[in-house]
Amino acid sequence: MQHRLQTKEKLHNIGVCEDELCLICGDHAETHEHQFFNCHFSKECVSRIKAWCGVQHQSLSFFQIIDWIARRRRGSKIRRFVQAAAMEAIAYYIWRVGNEAYWVHKVQSINYTVKHIQNIVKARSLCCLPKKVSSRDKEWIESL
Ligand SMILES: [Zn+2]
Repeated sequence: MQHRLQTKEKLHNIGVCEDELCLICGDHAETHEHQFFNCHFSKECVSRIKAWCGVQHQSLSFFQIIDWIARRRRGSKIRRFVQAAAMEAIAYYIWRVGNEAYWVHKVQSINYTVKHIQNIVKARSLCCLPKKVSSRDKEWIESL
C-alpha cells in the first residue's frame, strides 16, 4: 500500500532485471499500478472475490474497496471484517504469485489463486470469530 515493494520496473532501473515486464501477464511494465490495479490477473481476482463475499462497491481497486468498507457503518460488522480480510488477502496473493513467477517460473492460474484466497479467508474468519456472533453471520461465513 505504501509502494515499497520491489517491482520489476524498479529492479530493471537499477540493473537487476533484464526487462521490466509484468511477471504475471508479460504484457506491460510491472509497476505498482499495473500489478495491483490494471493487470487482468488482479482485476479478475478482485472481481471474483468481490462477488464471492458480497462486496457491492463498483471499483476493482482493492485499496478503494478497503477504504469503502472501513467507512461503512451499515450492515454486519463481521461481514465487513471478512470482506476487508478478503481484499487484503488479494493484495498479498497477487504479490506472492508475482514472486513465484520470478523465482519458480510458474504463474498460478486465476482459478487456483481465487480458490486459495477463498479457503484461507473462510478458515481464518471461522477460527477468529468473536464469542458473541449472530447465528446469521456464522451461517453466512460457513456458506462461503
Ligand atoms: Zn500484468
